[in-house]
Amino acid sequence: MNSFGVYMNKLVISCMDRRLNDFIEQHYSDCFVIRNAGANVYPITKEIKDLIKDKDIREIVLLAHTDCGAMKKVFGVIKDRKPVDLDLEDNLISHYRDLNFTNISELEKDNLKLQINKLKDEFPETKIEGRLLQIEDIKVPEEEGIHELIIANPSKPGYSGLLNELSLNHFSVYVLQSDINNVMPDLKLAVKDLGVKFIHLISIEKENPRDRKVDQEKLNLIFNKEGIKISTYSYPLKT
Ligand SMILES: [Zn+2]
Repeated sequence: MNSFGVYMNKLVISCMDRRLNDFIEQHYSDCFVIRNAGANVYPITKEIKDLIKDKDIREIVLLAHTDCGAMKKVFGVIKDRKPVDLDLEDNLISHYRDLNFTNISELEKDNLKLQINKLKDEFPETKIEGRLLQIEDIKVPEEEGIHELIIANPSKPGYSGLLNELSLNHFSVYVLQSDINNVMPDLKLAVKDLGVKFIHLISIEKENPRDRKVDQEKLNLIFNKEGIKISTYSYPLKT
């Protein structure tokens, strides 16, 4: 609530990392959330612009974190010259090629600045804040079982309800919250680099579950041959 008694809507942009699920839900439960690989603003500027308008967003919080799989990928490709798909190069890697980092910790700090500057450039009317979360400060139980991933559109972070209803372990599930077309390279990264074996496409409340069936067909073509299982759910589940 501001001094005029008007609720200020806030948007959180963060990483899909499974260790952030409970932290985001605890600290930002009233915010709209977008999550992708590395809290990367570049491929989602149009989506952010639409959310600012539709949800009357006045403030954006960029939540990056240490020990980030996406930053390790950036470092490996740029410094160790590892091969990379063209779409991941365009979406993520290319934005770091002119920076002068020499280790991961410098890259993580550079990433925060890069993303904040991009947000300030794109959305000069919106208040922008950023934070680099130290992952060791977030208490997460030892990881158990296989890694899974859910994809949903940006929404408030009611992860416990959703994950409980789907009987998924909160700490083994990566969460992408964005239009699926913006996160295809992130999905490939999750499968190849993070060991994700199951992808769950979620349609929330009034969304048409048929759209998710179309997405499922699209993902089947890409991931079935790699043994990845793709399913769709409506949430809340219809009984
Ligand atoms: Zn991350």
